[in-house]
Amino acid sequence: MITRLIIFILVLWIIHKLVKQARMLFFQIKKREANELIMGGEMVQDPSCRVYIPKNTAIRQKIGQHQYYFCSQECARKFYESLKA
Ligand SMILES: [Zn+2]
Repeated sequence: MITRLIIFILVLWIIHKLVKQARMLFFQIKKREANELIMGGEMVQDPSCRVYIPKNTAIRQKIGQHQYYFCSQECARKFYESLKA
């Protein structure tokens, strides 16, 4: 009876360890993905406010033959209006 209890506790402990390890691995992957999003990829300049932004998160706007990248819709609008003026 006592051995069964010990085995039961041991199994619980192993499961607990595995869950902890799996969770750590999951967070490491998430962290890496976040880093790649920030660090990885090409940086482009917003022609409106001159700020550098990652290309994959920038707002794309094709004006004429040229592709422009903006940090926000507001900047895209401002730039478009400055071109028209
Ligand atoms: Zn901007």
